[in-house]
Amino acid sequence: MTEIGEFHVMDEVEQHKVNLFLAEKAKLGDEISIKDVEGLGDIGTGNGAVVVKVRHKGTGIVMARKIIHLEVKHSTKIRIIRDLKVLHDCNFIHIIGFYTAFYLQGEVSLCMEYMNAGSLDVIVRKSGFIPENILGKISVASLRALMYLIETHSIIHNEVKPNNILLNSKGDIKLCDFGASCHLSDSLINSFIGTRSYMSPERLQGENSTVQSDIWALGFTLLEMAIGMYPIPPPKKDTLTQILSGKIKMYNFMDMSIFDILNYVVINEPPTVPDGLFSIEFKDFIDTTLRKDPKARGNLTKLLKKTWSQIYIEKDVDVAGWVCKTMNLEPVKAV
Ligand code: ADP
Repeated sequence: MTEIGEFHVMDEVEQHKVNLFLAEKAKLGDEISIKDVEGLGDIGTGNGAVVVKVRHKGTGIVMARKIIHLEVKHSTKIRIIRDLKVLHDCNFIHIIGFYTAFYLQGEVSLCMEYMNAGSLDVIVRKSGFIPENILGKISVASLRALMYLIETHSIIHNEVKPNNILLNSKGDIKLCDFGASCHLSDSLINSFIGTRSYMSPERLQGENSTVQSDIWALGFTLLEMAIGMYPIPPPKKDTLTQILSGKIKMYNFMDMSIFDILNYVVINEPPTVPDGLFSIEFKDFIDTTLRKDPKARGNLTKLLKKTWSQIYIEKDVDVAGWVCKTMNLEPVKAV
């Protein structure tokens, strides 16, 4: 796995885990219809979508069903469903498993693997911040997932952010919501509403997305998780010390409007890891991801070879233990 350029290839244990998912998925048969699933409650709401927990009645498999309401032509919706079929081929240890997609009464539904700890934004609201060793594992998993998508499917993720990095009580780390359908992305862009942005300076200035924009978004996400608050404007040291000692939680606090934030990203120096509170390896890694010029930014291979990545490729970290403790989940024996 640590061979040059081989980061997107799974080792035996990882392949086995993916095979177990595929065997479970095979039990569902070819088509799932809405009549086959029962609702178990809401999970979250996002940009034009609602995510609910459902159980497949025949097999008992619990899934996350993302329901996307789109104001687009019928033919576009059919095209989106067709595009999403590529997700059946996206089988990687750090990519969310896909069951099926269907179209019903004006809504596109996407059924995927349910991650019982939720996304990083949900987790950080509880924990206050995410410790460096856990972030090390999240970082390596995300870089490998991005490499898998581009190398195997020529797909750029396009929306790396805390909401799209999911964890479960087994300690699995998976990316979801990547740009599998350009028709879907085009339909959603018009409905952008949000209070935070993870977009790179070049994307904000109208350049096309590349993997380099995903790298900016990943660096920005990791920095935000490490300090427990949005990194723009740069937080005060005193506030950070209080967050990192568990005295206060600041994730929900936003100091600037979205328009001022976007402007800030384009005009100012990139955010950086504050001195003295984190390892030099982490600082070096983040500073390489958050360079304004995409060509000067580290690429996937270079970042995976950085000391910080190498430490966490090698090191055993009890992600499952930390996740279960933080999210009050029952520990699961890993397979
Ligand atoms: P966004 O990505 O904009 O937050 P989504 O509609 O994709 O919007 O998801 C809403 C929320 O639902 C996410 O932020 C996440 O917390 C949760 N979620 C999404 N997919 C899953 C999943 N497969 N398992 C568990 N929770 C999920």
